[in-house]
Amino acid sequence: MINEELKSLGIENHHKGTSTGTAWFGSGDRIESRSPVDGKSIGHVSCTAMPDYERAITTALSAKSAWSNLPAPNRGEVVRQFGEKLRLHKNELGRLVSYEMGKSYQEGLGEVQEMIDICDFAVGLSRQLYGFTMHSERPAHRMYEQYHPLGVVGIISAFNFPVAVWAWNAALALVCGNVIIWKGSEKTPLCSIACQKLLTEVLTANHLPEGISSICTGSADVGRWMAEDARIDLISATGSTRMGKQVAATVATRLGKSLLELGGNNAIIVTPHADLKMTIMAAVFGAVGTAGQRCTSTRRLIIHEDVYEHVRDALTSAYQQLKIGTPLDTENHVGPLIDTDAVKHYLSALSEIKKEGGTLLVEGQVLQGEGYESNCYVKPAIAEVENHYAIVQKETFAPILYLIKYRGEVSEAIALQNAVAQGLSSSIMTNNLQEAEHFLSHRGSDCGIANVNIGTSGAEIGGAFGGEKETGGGRESGSDAWKAYMRRQTNTINYSNTLPLAQGIKFNF
Ligand code: NAD
Repeated sequence: MINEELKSLGIENHHKGTSTGTAWFGSGDRIESRSPVDGKSIGHVSCTAMPDYERAITTALSAKSAWSNLPAPNRGEVVRQFGEKLRLHKNELGRLVSYEMGKSYQEGLGEVQEMIDICDFAVGLSRQLYGFTMHSERPAHRMYEQYHPLGVVGIISAFNFPVAVWAWNAALALVCGNVIIWKGSEKTPLCSIACQKLLTEVLTANHLPEGISSICTGSADVGRWMAEDARIDLISATGSTRMGKQVAATVATRLGKSLLELGGNNAIIVTPHADLKMTIMAAVFGAVGTAGQRCTSTRRLIIHEDVYEHVRDALTSAYQQLKIGTPLDTENHVGPLIDTDAVKHYLSALSEIKKEGGTLLVEGQVLQGEGYESNCYVKPAIAEVENHYAIVQKETFAPILYLIKYRGEVSEAIALQNAVAQGLSSSIMTNNLQEAEHFLSHRGSDCGIANVNIGTSGAEIGGAFGGEKETGGGRESGSDAWKAYMRRQTNTINYSNTLPLAQGIKFNF
C-alpha cells in the first residue's frame, strides 16, 4: 500500500539506520517498522551501534566549520531549497507519516506543511539573528551583543510528530549555523530516513560536505549516548516527562545545554459565557484528533455547573457519531494508537478511572474484526472525574476525555486547571472579557500556551511553542526560540586613546 510512496521518496531499499548524508550504515540490531493502520510490516532498519554513532559524531564535527563559515543568508538559501523539496514531496511524505504513525492523511499533510512553514520562517530569520546594541557608560565606547552558532545540535524526538518536530529544530539550528544529529523515535524510523534523504539531496546539490545533517536510529540507549556526549552542544529532546527528567539530569552533569519539550495535561475551561457550539467542536477535535496522541491533546474539560449538563450531553452524543478506522480514509475521524503497548496503557487508565470512583459516560473498547487487524484501534472514552485523581494527574496518551465540574468564579476553574504537574497548553471558552483577561493574566493559566475561544491543540509555527513545569520549560519554533540554538556574546569596543574602567574605578600605575 505504501510502496509507491517509499519509491518516490527514494527509500524503498534503505535498511541502514545511521546516515551522515550520502553515507548509510548501521551495524546494530534490526528493528521492524509495522504500521498501526493495518498491522503490516513496512520495512526493517538496522539500528545505530556505538561504532556507527562515533562515526556519525566525528563526521558531524568535521563538517562544523564548513557550515558555520557559510554566511547565514546562504545557509538560509539551503533551507529555502529544502522547503521547496518538501513542497514537491508533500503528498508521499504525508502519506508515509499517516501510514507509519497512524494519524489521518490530512494531519500527515499538515505535518509536512508545518515543515515547509518553518523552512520559510527560518529563511527570513537567516537575514536577522539580531542582537541588541546598548549605550556604554564609558566615553567613546560601543557595546553590543551578537549570536554565534553553538556547534553540534542533537535532536531526540517522539513518535507522534515524526517529521515536524525534527524540522522545527533542524531548520532553526541550520540557519543558526549548527550541524545537526537526529535520533527519531524507534517507532517511526522510515519517516526519519525519508527526511534525511530529502535534506541530503539538497545539501549534495549545493556541494556541501557530509555530516551537516546526520541521523541515528534506535532505542533510548542511542538517546542516552547523545545526552552523555560533551561533543554535542545542545540536546533538544521531545517526548515524555519521564524521558525529559533523565535527559535533563544527564546533560546537567556535564553542564551542557538542553531544550525540553515534554508531556502535557491540557484543559479547556468552559464558562457560562462560552459559545457552546464552538466548545463542542474544539473539545471533540482536541480529544480525539490524532487518537489523543498529541502533546496538546485536550485531556480535561473544566465546565461550569450552569452549562455542565448541556456540554456533557452534547459531547456524549457527538461521540456516537465518530467514525473509527483507517486514517487514510478521509471519512474516518479516529485512527489507531501507535502500538499495542499504547492500547494496554489506555485499558489500564480506564480501569484506574473506575477504581478511583470516576464514571465512564462513554465506555472505552478495543475494536476487533475487519479493518482493525492491527489491534490498535480503540473507542474514544469520556469520564466524569475529580481533578485530584491520580489517573487524571497523569498524561495518558490515548483518547480519554475527563469532565470536571466547577461551581463558583472563573478563578476556581483556573485553580483546577493549574493543579497538575504539567504546563503545556490551556484554553478558555468565553465571550466575557473579564474572564478571558483574568485567564491570560499572571493570575491565570500557568501554561506555555493559553488560548481564548480555540481548543488546546493545533499551534502555528510563528509563536514560540512549549510549556512550563514538568513540560520542561523549552521553547521551539517561532518568535525568538532560535536563541536557544546560538551562544550569546557581549562585546565592548573602546575607540578612544584612554582606558576608563567601568563603575568609575580608578587604578593608577
Ligand atoms: P518517549 O519519551 O517514550 O520517547 C521520546 C524519544 O526519547 C524517543 O526517541 C526515545 O527513544 C527517546 N528516549 C526515551 N528515553 C530516553 C532516555 N532516557 N534518554 C534519551 N532518550 C530517550 O515519548 P513518546 O512515547 O515517543 O512520545 C510521547 C510523549 O512525547 C508524550 O508525553 C507527549 O506529550 C510528548 N511530546 C511532547 C511534545 C512537546 O512539544 N511538548 C511534542 C510531542 C510529543
